[in-house]
Amino acid sequence: MPHIVIVGAGLTGLATAFWLRRRAPYVRVTLLEARERAGGNVGTEQIHGFRIERGPNGFLARSPALPRLIEALGLSERLLPASSGSRRHRFLYLHGQLHRVPSHPVGLLLSTLLSGEGKKELLVGLCRQIRFSPANRDQDESVYDFVARRFGREVADVFADALVTGIQGGDPKLLSMAACFPRLVDWERRYGSVIRGMIQYVRQQRRQAQQAPGSLSRSQLYSFREGLQVLVDTLVQAVGASLNLAAPVTALRYQPATAVWQVYSPTAPPLQADAVVLSCPAYVQAELLAPLDAALAVEVAAIPYNRIVVAALGYRQVDCAQVPEGFGYIAPQSQGRDVLGVQWCSSIYPERAPAGMVLWRALCGGMRRPDLLDLDDTTLLNRVQREMTTVLKVQGPPVFHHIIRWPRAIPQYVVGHLARLKRINAALTRWPRLFLSGNAYRGIALSDCAEEAERLADQLVSLFPSASHDTTAGRLNSSAKES
Ligand SMILES: Cc1cc2nc3c(=O)[nH]c(=O)nc-3n(C[C@H](O)[C@H](O)[C@H](O)COP(=O)(O)OP(=O)(O)OC[C@H]3O[C@@H](n4cnc5c(N)ncnc54)[C@H](O)[C@@H]3O)c2cc1C
Repeated sequence: MPHIVIVGAGLTGLATAFWLRRRAPYVRVTLLEARERAGGNVGTEQIHGFRIERGPNGFLARSPALPRLIEALGLSERLLPASSGSRRHRFLYLHGQLHRVPSHPVGLLLSTLLSGEGKKELLVGLCRQIRFSPANRDQDESVYDFVARRFGREVADVFADALVTGIQGGDPKLLSMAACFPRLVDWERRYGSVIRGMIQYVRQQRRQAQQAPGSLSRSQLYSFREGLQVLVDTLVQAVGASLNLAAPVTALRYQPATAVWQVYSPTAPPLQADAVVLSCPAYVQAELLAPLDAALAVEVAAIPYNRIVVAALGYRQVDCAQVPEGFGYIAPQSQGRDVLGVQWCSSIYPERAPAGMVLWRALCGGMRRPDLLDLDDTTLLNRVQREMTTVLKVQGPPVFHHIIRWPRAIPQYVVGHLARLKRINAALTRWPRLFLSGNAYRGIALSDCAEEAERLADQLVSLFPSASHDTTAGRLNSSAKES
């Protein structure tokens, strides 16, 4: 019986184990998790009647993989789409004011978000988009440069910044457009411009919705009534005895003579494995790889992570009377505020707060304000409350708070990330049946992790089609995005 060891039981590791057990029941799977609980970044806590997400607050069904996983786990009935109000109304805090974000680029020309000069640049950019595709298409460039070259510096200052603040908590001048937003780059390649690609995409979405009514919308945020924890709990149940908690992996060895991997954890006897999947964060992968392959470890360790604090806040509804309905707001990092943005959780998903209360999550830190993580709780809370009074005009202090610190939160795909992936992939050919997966490589969203997990499980199934052993060299879980 082939034995596959997976290191790290976040969504990626759990879903890989799940699909392996489902599609190759003849394979023995061992999933080792360092902590006492599985789920990694995903986790929901219930405190004083508030339902708080520690990490992700929801997911988009960007590819069919996550809906397929949810369906296979029997969770479709428990899905909870974001409220319609939160879908329609999103805000930016800019120049001391909250602004509603228009749902269409043309709406920006009528909004107060841009100056006259900024609107002129945007208009020129939009006209160019209709006529021809910009040059420089094969060169990796930053998110900021990509947007600025097409729509002007002011649009980049406001929207490229807001986009990466809201998704990655990153710096638009450092992040790679091709690695962070491959779909937009692909639209430009395929259709000649981002706007043309967007039009095609919307049409395609409509067609798919007509052909498969009831399928999950790709542009809508979802969670579950009980919170995202239910996804983790159901996966844990499904993988059963394969999962070993409180089992940190501390070393890996490869024996070329027997083509067997040895996996060491202080809490268990060494495991012999035919294949090893590292689904732990990149900085842990780098530590495990260093004694095997120093050059590979250096590449993996070079993937930076940001620091984020999530401050969950409960307020009395009467104290928040001036807060409009919607998803929340983002303060682009160029504004230098202490809070990157606030998600109005109980407006997005009703029943997240007790009656008469609201639940919000203020996110602080990111690439440009890592210092905020070092503040003690009282100082941090005071800073956050000051923002809530200034930006949202709340009339009283929070009745409840819960602070979660993420010292290494979200991997940052900086310019050069895709070239780094190629080098890692090349280095991995030296190590038979060793795979690196997780959110550090091909997408940080939960839907990316689910896609990666299913693809990797299928790759492993093809390596071990029955009980036979294949000695094909391992590689970084190959991807369509990379090719
Ligand atoms: C604050 C925050 C907000 C986010 N918001 C969203 C959102 O709204 N929507 C969205 O789609 N995504 C969001 N994300 C991103 C998403 O949560 C992650 O990309 C995803 O959960 C990563 O899953 P993973 O399994 O790849 O890694 P992880 O969740 O990091 O799991 C890795 C696992 O490896 C374990 N491990 C570490 N070292 C070892 C070892 N030596 N041995 C064994 N196990 C080890 C860890 O304990 C962990 O359980 C957010 C992330 C954060 C931090």
